[in-house]
Amino acid sequence: METVFDKIISGSIPSYKIYDDTYCTGILDINPVKKGHCLLISKLSVATINELGSNEFAHMSNIVQRIAKQMRTALKADAVNVLINDGKAAGQEIPHVHIHIIPRFESDGGIDIGKKEKYADEEMEKYFQLLKIK
Ligand code: AMP
Repeated sequence: METVFDKIISGSIPSYKIYDDTYCTGILDINPVKKGHCLLISKLSVATINELGSNEFAHMSNIVQRIAKQMRTALKADAVNVLINDGKAAGQEIPHVHIHIIPRFESDGGIDIGKKEKYADEEMEKYFQLLKIK
């Protein structure tokens, strides 16, 4: 079954792609827990991390490090949450492996995974420019 993320990877659904290579694509989450919230999506269309090869998962971990570093430098994030909902019972809504990377700040008042922020007009473009990885 084709997922929303397959459509994002193929370009049939628009997204802000901050990173792209043979194995994975990084995008801005459209409903961020904190503004700047990114998703690193596997190009292999499987639901769980155990269906990925260990090399693919290790590669994605390396890219997560780069995205976290970009959040610390470009957004001046004090910290980062890295999270995987690995299966439906774990809260996964889209059955296609993806890693959440969420910028955090000392003064951000905490997060509630179910409570999303809203980007104002043009704000996603601003975060895209700050977070895209060359
Ligand atoms: P999960 O619950 O781990 O499956 O997370 C799915 C995430 O995908 C949620 O945080 C959604 O806000 C995000 N999402 C869903 N559709 C899109 C989209 N078209 N573009 C960007 N992010 C999306």
